[in-house]
Amino acid sequence: MVKQTIQIFGRMKPTKNPAGVYSLDNDELMGASLEFVLPKDLTDGFVNNKRESYRFRFKKVFDQQAKQEDIFKNIAKPVADSVLAGFNGTIFAYGQTGSGKTFTITGGAEHYTDRGIIPRTLSYLFERFSQDSSTVYTTHISYLEIYNEVGYDLLDPRHEASRLEDLPKVLIMEDTDQNIHLRNLSLQQAANEEEALNLLFLGDTNRMISETPLNQASTRSHCIFTVHLCRREPGSATLQRSKLHLVDLAGSDRVSKTRLNGLLLTEAKYINLSLHFLEQVILALSERSRSHIPYRNSMLTSVLRDSLGGNCMTTMIATLAVDKRNLDESISTCRFAQRVALIKNEAILNEELDPVLLIAHLKEEILTLKKELAMMMGEQKSKQLSTDEILKLEELIKAFLNDPDPDVTLSLGPDMRKVQHSFLYFKKKLLEKQSEENQCSDQSSAATRKNLAHISAVDMNSLKGMLRQRDNEISILVKMLKKEKQRADDAVAQLSKIAIYQNLSSQSLPNCSTVPGFGEGITDPLSLNHGAQATSSSLTREEYVELGDDVSTVSKLTGEITSTYSLNGQQLKSTSPQSRYGNVKAQQEDPTPKENRFQESHEGHMNHGGHVLPYMKKGSQLSAGKLEAFEIFIKDHEEQKIIEENKKLIKKRSAEAETLSEHLNQVRNRIAELKKQLQMKRRQRAAQRFEDVEGNYTPGGKLDPIEEDLCEQIKQEKIAYKTTIGRLKTLSTEIEHLQLLLEKVKVKIQTDFQRWWSQEASNLQGCETGPMAGFHTLSSHASPSGTVAMCQVLPEINPDHCYSSAQDARSSRSTEDDFNQSSEWRALDSSGPSPLVPLTGDQRVDADVLAFLRARQNLLSKKAAPQQ
Ligand code: ADP
Ligand code: MG
Repeated sequence: MVKQTIQIFGRMKPTKNPAGVYSLDNDELMGASLEFVLPKDLTDGFVNNKRESYRFRFKKVFDQQAKQEDIFKNIAKPVADSVLAGFNGTIFAYGQTGSGKTFTITGGAEHYTDRGIIPRTLSYLFERFSQDSSTVYTTHISYLEIYNEVGYDLLDPRHEASRLEDLPKVLIMEDTDQNIHLRNLSLQQAANEEEALNLLFLGDTNRMISETPLNQASTRSHCIFTVHLCRREPGSATLQRSKLHLVDLAGSDRVSKTRLNGLLLTEAKYINLSLHFLEQVILALSERSRSHIPYRNSMLTSVLRDSLGGNCMTTMIATLAVDKRNLDESISTCRFAQRVALIKNEAILNEELDPVLLIAHLKEEILTLKKELAMMMGEQKSKQLSTDEILKLEELIKAFLNDPDPDVTLSLGPDMRKVQHSFLYFKKKLLEKQSEENQCSDQSSAATRKNLAHISAVDMNSLKGMLRQRDNEISILVKMLKKEKQRADDAVAQLSKIAIYQNLSSQSLPNCSTVPGFGEGITDPLSLNHGAQATSSSLTREEYVELGDDVSTVSKLTGEITSTYSLNGQQLKSTSPQSRYGNVKAQQEDPTPKENRFQESHEGHMNHGGHVLPYMKKGSQLSAGKLEAFEIFIKDHEEQKIIEENKKLIKKRSAEAETLSEHLNQVRNRIAELKKQLQMKRRQRAAQRFEDVEGNYTPGGKLDPIEEDLCEQIKQEKIAYKTTIGRLKTLSTEIEHLQLLLEKVKVKIQTDFQRWWSQEASNLQGCETGPMAGFHTLSSHASPSGTVAMCQVLPEINPDHCYSSAQDARSSRSTEDDFNQSSEWRALDSSGPSPLVPLTGDQRVDADVLAFLRARQNLLSKKAAPQQ
């Protein structure tokens, strides 16, 4: 912003008869001083008491000989430069009619050198435009004439055909910002100096045409020639708009006081009213206390609003005619100029944004933002890039990748498709590179892989078959493992049982060992375990009990063998001795465990001395008397020796079988261990084959030496196993045979005993005549002390089982049946008091009872005799 007062200049109009009434002193620094000295002879024009000299200060006063060129350079050019810089500028000429205002502003028509400020300024401006090629200048011209407060467009072409009154009037419009706009005032663009001068000429011509002697337009109108300048840097939206008003005012002629009854010169009135308002405005502006400036009072002040006290660098040229008759007007002009000089203007740079350029820039920005938004939203104009776009993009990427500069960037613009395509391109290149690297690293094994591929193609089926085979092997081995584990658990359970029975049998051994013959076998703990597994179909249960311990030894062995074989698979199992003894096993129908029965019977007879214990079982014992009789009978029996021998032999063979069984178990365990090792080895080999699938494995490869050794060991152990099994079978057969012999002897003894017992009973029956009396006698004499021998034990004999002589002819089978009726035999408590024997009342039965008692007594007496 440039603050400065209105610059005032003075110009003297040449006159042929200079009166020497003024003196002029132009100082470079202090400005010009113009002094008017009124000569005394001018009394006709002035009052007597008037001052003789008037001094005025100007910036510069151009004397009569001043050239138009000087005026331009000193006055117009600085203003033109300001206008070129973007400030508004105004040069107006003020003076009485004929003082040279028009000559100064427009120039004379006779000589080229008489060109005034307007043409020279136009020439200067266009010259400057041509010198500054970096800036775009646009020039428009308007030419306004204000006559009687009415504005006319001097550039309107209708001037030629119309009268001034018929021309459209220029109207003053004011916007909300109090900016003045002139309607009907045309702005004619002047592209060059010639066009601008032509417009000037056109306007002046129109002015002259419209002037008539009546209206005296040339002296009573104001003409404002305005150059509208637009300056813009190329590519910039900033515009500088400035206006240069070159104003040729109407003559400031006043009504002379002298001519109107001696009024003071200063009080003379403007002929032109608008000049009066102009003075009012200037007066207001010069008085700083005035807040209201009456611009609107006239059209001239409205149009020149910015030039007076506003945004303008304004210059005034006071045209002075210094001949004597115009002195008063000149002094009035100078006075006016002095007031104008007090006005301070604030010129500002008229920069503004070009709306067109601004709109263009905003549109471009909106487009960019829309693209960015689309990119952020993932939207695309079209779904895919075109082929050309892809080619261009890939060229761009290649250039980016090949650029050695590490800081180079890849500018893809706001296009998500390009971004995605670029990433796809990078991925593709990366995969290609990785593939190449893999190929390089695999070159060494490429041949092997090729061969393998060939082998795979040819031998794929065989390899698959092998794989299935190995899978089957593995599954079989796993099953076997499970079975073996189950059997191991069973064996542990059996061992625990054995331990229990060992304890029990050890408690029973003292009694058992006293039993001659059969009883000795029960010391074998193994017999307790498997005693129930073997018996003969020809034996009754009781007999089985008698023979159980020995038979069970063999059975135990066979059971053990069976168990062992079963561990070695079905093939071995089929040759198990169990099949051989299947008939024996089929007889095991008694759900009660044999060992339990044995144990119970054993306990039940502990107090009897136990000589015949093996014959007995709980609830099926012989009566005490008959037992004693049987005991004695056995001792004397001729077969007893055979029994003893067989018994010893069975025991020996059983021991051998036991040893073999232990050996067999050891062999079995060794085989199991070897098989375990072999399985492990084969699994390791299988795993190595899978890991070594690259080609080290060949289907026809040799067996591992360790595997071979294991297989050989297993073979040897199997041979030993089979040998042992064979020996065990032989032993079992022998033991079985001996058992059968023993059974036969036992049956024979039993049969003999029964026969003898019946015989004895029959004999006694024949001796007795009144058995009933005897019974009664016995009953009547039943006293604990006297009849102990006879009545210590009286069996409750079922009459059906008391054998009469008629029944003696019964077969041995019948005898066996008697033994089988175990429930009908009663145990007699020998330790308790002797109960009375209740006779049945049946004569025959009671006779049997008495016969029994007697026979028993005889036997006891016999027995007692040798001891004594
Ligand atoms: P105005 O416009 O003030 O009424 P003009 O400019 O028309 O007066 O001048 C009147 C006459 O005086 C014109 O013929 C003009 O040529 C002449 N004149 C004015 N000033 C000068 C000057 N400085 N040098 C030569 N002639 C001049
Ligand atoms: Mg004029």
